[in-house]
Amino acid sequence: MTLITKKCEVCGGEWQCSPDSEASCPHCESRQLKHLFAGLGPERTAEIDALIYERNILIGIKKIKESLGIRLAQSTELFSIRYTELRAANGHRFICSDDCYWDGFYS
Ligand SMILES: [Zn+2]
Repeated sequence: MTLITKKCEVCGGEWQCSPDSEASCPHCESRQLKHLFAGLGPERTAEIDALIYERNILIGIKKIKESLGIRLAQSTELFSIRYTELRAANGHRFICSDDCYWDGFYS
């Protein structure tokens, strides 16, 4: 399939998709997701962060999904966004390295 590059009118970001895709800008979408996540209380956030540190990926994704009432794909993306933030800020708190963290998850 041929992919085309679309440009977002809001943020100017570009992304590739199939010509008939109705998907909205992934850059704007992840910004909205982060905004949603930021609205969770500190307790919820700490609970989710703990799941991320402990590599409870599926449980973490489910928790984010239920907490925010979003789609699974959005929740998965949010998990990975949060993972990246935590990995950068508190890398030592993870139970394993970045290399093995996603082993068996994306396959
Ligand atoms: Zn955008």
